[in-house]
Parts: sequence; structure tokens; C-alpha cells
Amino acid sequence: MNILEKRELIKNQELTVENNVENFINNINKSNKSINAFLEINTDYALEKSKEISDKIKNKEKTGSLAGLVFGIKANINVEDFTISAASKTLENYIGSYDATVIKKIKQEDGIIIGMTNLDEFAAGSSTESSYYGVTENPSAPGRIPGGSSGGSAAAIAGEMCDIAIGSDTGGSIRNPASHCGVIGFKPSYGGVSRQGLLDLSMSLDQIGPLANDSYGIAIALNNLIANDPYDCTSLKWNTPNFLDAKDTVDLKGKKIATIKQFHEVSDEKVNKVVDNSISKIENLGAETVELDFNYIDLTLPTYYLINYVEFFSATRKYDGRKYGHKIEDVCGEEVLRRIGLGSYISQQEFSEKYYKKALQARSLIRNEINKLLNDVDLIVGPTVPKLPHKIGDKLDPMEMYAYDILTVIANLTGIPAGSIKAGESNGIPVGLQIQSKHQDDYKILETMFVLENNN
Ligand code: GLN
Repeated sequence: MNILEKRELIKNQELTVENNVENFINNINKSNKSINAFLEINTDYALEKSKEISDKIKNKEKTGSLAGLVFGIKANINVEDFTISAASKTLENYIGSYDATVIKKIKQEDGIIIGMTNLDEFAAGSSTESSYYGVTENPSAPGRIPGGSSGGSAAAIAGEMCDIAIGSDTGGSIRNPASHCGVIGFKPSYGGVSRQGLLDLSMSLDQIGPLANDSYGIAIALNNLIANDPYDCTSLKWNTPNFLDAKDTVDLKGKKIATIKQFHEVSDEKVNKVVDNSISKIENLGAETVELDFNYIDLTLPTYYLINYVEFFSATRKYDGRKYGHKIEDVCGEEVLRRIGLGSYISQQEFSEKYYKKALQARSLIRNEINKLLNDVDLIVGPTVPKLPHKIGDKLDPMEMYAYDILTVIANLTGIPAGSIKAGESNGIPVGLQIQSKHQDDYKILETMFVLENNN
């Protein structure tokens, strides 16, 4: 049953909202202890809400478009009365005092928030291992990391613990764990979804988006999440299509789709094998494919990390121990401390010319190059992550960890939308296909996802 069908069953009272919530609570009770997808759940709240919505349905009152669907929220997005720890000791006692704009939308439309999901500390990572509350296990590849930083959100979907999970994506944090856990993850165009209420990692790159087990879930979420917000100065005024209409696209005839030689070159053979298979499927479904060059692949990670360090350093200055929790430098983990240290160094005026300004120039080069490629084609496809998820316990050095991000940071540096959908498996381990398009062409990505899903 896909999420659209479920939504109809709920509306027609063939499935009660209480039952939907209880099923997820049972799954959470069964497996969250070992998976550690959720850091906090509030079953009383979820059950109370489910009763409220159920009564509305029974009384034939108007209900919202998310009526009865269950949401898991990454613990770096403000939700009233939940712990918004960002998986850091810094904020271990910080209780959300308001709802982020995206949360207000979900609640207004009768979605039910069941709890807060795990992440890398302050969303700075690609494996969820740097969470102060312990790693999340990948339900689709036991013993391995779920990816990150929204590893808890992806695992909650893969482990059937909620209908839709919300993540944040600064350099791949929705798409990377979606890829490793074999689910769908979508980073909308920059400015599409309000960032108000998100604890920022790097504000010029951050974007909130959904994860789900099928494209219907993504479409329903995007229909609600993408909206102009006067509280976010980067928010777009965008006359969006109905993303659910994308389900009616039957094939990919007339679509021009690019693969990128350099994306292939930086990826492991095992990953390429699965992704190539998926690209053949795309061709069989009627798309015309071309291979193009992206000449700045070596610039992507240094550019991304320099900007990330500088913006993160500035964002963390408010965690000085006076207003929010502990002083961050006193209690945070290694990776967060590294970013603060380097960010502080690079931000000094005498070094700014050498590093930060260069990074901004490189960002423009990358943006121009990507926009040039997207002028000729509708979509770019390739691997989401260049390698398979490592085993929990394997020690990676920072550069090896950063290498996971080489294919995902491009969409954040340029602001374009990008999604990841399962391409297949390599020895039982999921591999994701990344689909990217021009800014505000999010609909085209969704169409392709629906076509792939319907022809599976
Ligand atoms: N792995 C990347 C980083 O560590 C991306 C994180 C994210 O998107 N939040 O910065």
C-alpha cells in the first residue's frame, strides 16, 4: 500500500488513525532499541492527536491533506515540547518552545508527530556516528551505518517506524542516508522550504526536505512543505505545481537526461554497476541520454567544506552557555570542534582572502558550470554516494568521511533540487540513484521517480 492509498483508507475510515499510529508505535517498541532511529518519542501525544483527528473524520468535519499520517522529525528542527538536542550534549536539555514553519504546516494539515530522529551532532557528518546519543543502525544493511546526517530519519522510514520523515540537507544529509537505507530522499530547490526553526549548520546551503518509502509520500510532503515564508529571508515566492500530478507521467519519452563522466570516475565499481543498470532502465523508458563533462569535480569538497566551516562557526556563537545549554566547545565532539576551530581561523580577516573568498569564487564557477549543463538537458543522473556504507565500528579519517559527500554537495552549492531513489542493491546493500534538475524543476525529478517506481 502506498501513502496515497493509505491516506484514502484513512479518509474513508477503512483504516483508523489510531491503528496507523499504534502500528508504528509497535514497530518502534520492537526495533528502536537496536536501531536507535528515534531519540525521543511521545506516544501519549501521538495517540491523543490520533483520537482528535479520528473524531473529525467520524464527524465528517474537514481534515487536512496529511490527516492521520505519522511523521518523524530530525532533532535539529524546532517542535514545541520535544527535545531539540541536535544530537549534541550542548543542547541536551533544550526543549523546543515553538514550532518551526514546516512543523506548523504539518500540524495544520493534521499530520501526527511521533518523535525526534537521530543525526550526526549538529548535522555535521555522513554516518550518524557522531551523535552524542550513539549511532543509528541501518535497517536495510544490518551492522552498517545508515549514512547521515539524517540517519535517524532514513532508518525510521526503512524500519517502518513512520510514514514520512523530515530531514535537513546541507551537503547531502537527506539524500546520503536515503541512498544507504534504500528509501527516497528529496532536497528541494534552495528557498523552496522555509528554514525558519531549523538549527542551522550552514545557512546558505541548508534545506529541509522529506524522506519516505515511495514517491507519493514525497509528493504529498512537498505539496505541504514548499511555501513562501516571510520569516525566512531566502524563501521563494513560487507558484508550485501539484507534485502529486507527477504520478500520472507514464514514461520518459522526450526527456533528455545526462550522465556525468566524472561522477562515474569517482565512484566505486560496485556502486556504478547498480547505477548503470538503473540508467539503462531510464533509457528503456524512453529518455534520451548523453554523457557530459563536469570539469570542477575536484573543487566541490574543498569549496563546500570551507563555506560550511565559516558559516557553522558563525552559527555556533550563540551556544556560549548563557542562553542555550552548555558552551559548545566545552562539550561537543571531535568533528564539531574541528569545524569551529577551522571556521574561526578561516574567518579571520587576514586569511579570508586566501580561503573564504576563494571558496565563494569556486562556488560561482561550479554554479555556472552546472547551470550550463542543465541548459541542454532536463536532468542529471548518477550515483548519490560514491561508495557503500561502512560497517559500524570501522574508523574513518575525516577525509574519508568527507569523500562520501562529493556527489551530493553540488546541489547545495548551486541551490538546485536533487533526490535519491533506490537503484538496486550490491550484495544486499542498497545503492541510490541521484536525480538533479534546474532550480525549481523539482517536479521533473519527481516525475522520473514515479516512472521508475511504477516500472519496477
Ligand atoms: N556530510 C556533510 C557534512 O558533514 C553534509 C551534512 C549535511 O548535509 N547536513 O557537512
